[in-house]
Amino acid sequence: MSRFFDIVSKPARNLGTMNAPSTTPAALERRSRLIKLDSNENPFGPSPRVVDAMRAVLSAANFYPDDDCSQLRQGLATHHGVPVEQVLVTAGSTGMLSLLCQTLLAPGLNAVTSERSFIVYSMAVQAAGGRLVEAPMRAGEDSFDLDAILAAIDPNTRIVFLPNPNNPTGTMLDATVVGRFLAQVPGHVVVVLDEAYYEFALGFAALRRVAYPNSLEYLRQGASVVVLRTFSKAHGLAALRVGYGLGPAELLGYCARMRNTFSVSSVAQAAALEAISDSEHIQRVVENNILQSRVLAQGLSALGYRVVPTSANFLFCDLGEDAAAVAARLQDEGVAVRPLRSWGAPSCIRVMIGTPEQNHAFLQAARTIAGSGSRGSQATPAITSAV
Ligand code: PMP
Repeated sequence: MSRFFDIVSKPARNLGTMNAPSTTPAALERRSRLIKLDSNENPFGPSPRVVDAMRAVLSAANFYPDDDCSQLRQGLATHHGVPVEQVLVTAGSTGMLSLLCQTLLAPGLNAVTSERSFIVYSMAVQAAGGRLVEAPMRAGEDSFDLDAILAAIDPNTRIVFLPNPNNPTGTMLDATVVGRFLAQVPGHVVVVLDEAYYEFALGFAALRRVAYPNSLEYLRQGASVVVLRTFSKAHGLAALRVGYGLGPAELLGYCARMRNTFSVSSVAQAAALEAISDSEHIQRVVENNILQSRVLAQGLSALGYRVVPTSANFLFCDLGEDAAAVAARLQDEGVAVRPLRSWGAPSCIRVMIGTPEQNHAFLQAARTIAGSGSRGSQATPAITSAV
């Protein structure tokens, strides 16, 4: 077929070649002018305290970072009340996902999740030579079917991924169902409790008087769980690539050996260390998210769209028509949202909950489009590359 096809590894071959530029400078420039509601980021950015902490270390950029992230690890261990050996800091929580897959999977082994879950699981599993099994969701609902996930586990399963809340549906599994699930998972399987949207989920759970799982308690009780958290969302540090796993010390020890050297920059470490204790910023972000989730949900419902109640910083919304066409029209109106065909939901979009001004602009654009009818649009294709 080509010069290298026969000599690259099977996982590399299966993932295909993806090194062509995915965008052009002109498209990037256009994109920078959009209101970005397509990647579940933090619309307020990092807090001033965190920006100062980054500035303070910039001029030492000639030195390699502390490979062990010792101060940050210790800070996180203290913050969560776990031994430091149960903390591993990685380049974003997707870094931890890859490490877990490389450590636990190989050809012939598999990982299980639900259909319509976080799209990076599939890539991380395939890159490690494993197979991802996607259990069906609850019929007619937007939530995971944990019995179907249990039924999909076989002797070759090593990982179950439970994103909670899930991306892109925004749905949350409560403490009772997660506890019951964990009690039934066989011993040869590690359950990854992916809590990227933890702070938002806690806010919604308190409001609705439901119990968000206390995942660290499962860890303390000796369960085979790894809890993933990130600084990319509520803390507003997505560009810095810093996240972490909390898990059994022995397992994290194996993962640590598989890590790329110096993968978390000193700027990211300094920012994250400061961000741990920045509860005021988190509170502001979470409060805006709760208030604005109502504004967005009401605005979209008024247009006749079906909105799934969220526990995260985005809404999953069924438009009942070709979502890619609507997303392209929205882009022409200056707003980026995520159409969800790749998740098997071609009539749905995922839209981040932004600032009041951003949400207002988005709803205005959505009304304009709904008023003019989006079918048959000749608009430019919506940007769909990021996760
Ligand atoms: N898990 C889920 C469910 C996510 O939606 C995301 C971000 N889109 C992540 C993990 C990864 O975030 P990061 O690598 O930036 O920490």
